[in-house]
Order: sequence, then C-alpha cells, then structure tokens
Amino acid sequence: MPREFTSASTRNLPLAMIPLSGPEISSRKELALSGVIPFSTLDFPGVLSAVLFCQGCPWLCRYCHNPHLRSFSPQPYRDGWDWPRARDLLVKRIGFLEGVVFSGGEPTAQPALADAIKEVRGMGYRVGLHTSGSYPKKLIPLLPLVDWIGLDIKAPLDFRYDLITGISGSARPTRASLEAIIASGIDYQIRTTVHPKLLSHLDLREIEQQLTSIGAHTPVIQPFRAQGCQDPELVADATTLNKEVDSAQRGVSLPEPLHRYQ
Ligand code: SF4
Repeated sequence: MPREFTSASTRNLPLAMIPLSGPEISSRKELALSGVIPFSTLDFPGVLSAVLFCQGCPWLCRYCHNPHLRSFSPQPYRDGWDWPRARDLLVKRIGFLEGVVFSGGEPTAQPALADAIKEVRGMGYRVGLHTSGSYPKKLIPLLPLVDWIGLDIKAPLDFRYDLITGISGSARPTRASLEAIIASGIDYQIRTTVHPKLLSHLDLREIEQQLTSIGAHTPVIQPFRAQGCQDPELVADATTLNKEVDSAQRGVSLPEPLHRYQ
C-alpha cells in the first residue's frame, strides 16, 4: 500500500507543479552502479548492448524484482562494478557492442547520469534509457542525448498508480514524462508488467485507452517475474500466471487479460 494515499486526479497539472517523487543521490559526482550485463539483445530493441544498473529508486513497486537497487544509501558495489570499471569495459568493447542501456533502479535520479551518457556517446555507442518516469524534470534535458527509451506504465494514470508504486501521486510525474517523450519524437517503448492481483483486464483496457488518447504507443506486456520479488502474496500467484504466459508463447488462446497482448 502507498505511504500516503490520495484519490485526487493527477492529470493535466503543469510541469512546474510536479514535485520530485523522492530523493536523489545528489552528493555523488560519479554514477552509482550496482551491476552490469556485458552483452544483451533484450534491453534495447535491435541493438546489441551492455546494460548498466544504476543504484537507487524512489518508488516501492510491489512486484519489483530488483529491490536491492532501491536504496539511495551507499551500497557495496555488487561484483565490484563501479563507473570507472564499467567505462573501461565499454572502451574495450568498442566495435563489438552497438549500444549502452542505463537501467536501474531509476537512472534519472542520479545527477551524474548526463555526463555518463555523454561519455558513452563519445565512444560511439547508441544510448538506451530505462525509466519509470518518476523524475520528468530530470528526464527532459536528457532526451536529446538518448536514442531510445523504455518507459514503464504501471497502471491507469490516476490514483491506482499509487497502489503499485507505493508512492502518493506517482501517476503525475509519469504522465509528464510520457508526454515529454512523445513531444521529443524520440524512439520509445512502453512496458507494462502484469500481475492479475494488481491489474485487471479492465485496468489494462483503460491503460490502452489512456495511452491512445495521449497519442502514445500501446504497451508491451511483461509478465510478472517472481525472482527477487519480496511480496509473498504476489509470488504465491506466480505459478498460475506463468502457466498463462507459457500458453501465450505457445499460441494457445488465453483468458483475459493476457490474450489481447499476444
Ligand atoms: S520503479 Fe522499478 S526499480 Fe523502482 S521500485 Fe518500481 S520496479 Fe523497482
């Protein structure tokens, strides 16, 4: 449940009225990383990429499978990864990799992100960014530096957003980020994670309708992943969900809500 709950509509507020959703790692001049995937074909469509996982996220999504990436406190770098080591790796992979994805956590929480992106671009890489849209004011200046964005849309863009993120008013910055992405003309993908306990068929239909009315792409559905999730209620239902997803992959007809997104 959210720390604070509000039923007030979050739509159509001017960007200047949108608060930041949480803290940033403002004291860090260097990008705080918690891990690196050296090769990925999944995280930046059509681009062979390295994925850098940034430490810190202001939200508390129930289905989060990277809860160790949430903390903004200094963490011991996992597997010894930090920005200098990641940068060295990227220098060595020039000519072998095409892109670099900044993922998280929430990369835009970090003031060092823009400089890291510029360094990566300077190496000749294309840049992808995974974001929840929680910091639109920080995202907007990054848009000219990025080639592709994967934006999570977690629920209908109203009070129901908070039931997943655990943060009051979380739809407001997300919508502002989405609108900024669309206005920029940048290539993007919207992803929605589905767990039947969190999103009903009607919720999914409403998300699709809202996105259409905003002029956005419809979402790519991501099945809930139990690994790493710290919510026992959601994990207990994962077996049923996975059967549905397996059926989808075999082309078997599905119950709502998944069949509409095959
Ligand atoms: S926005 Fe992403 S990283 Fe942050 S809590 Fe939600 S799922 Fe986890």
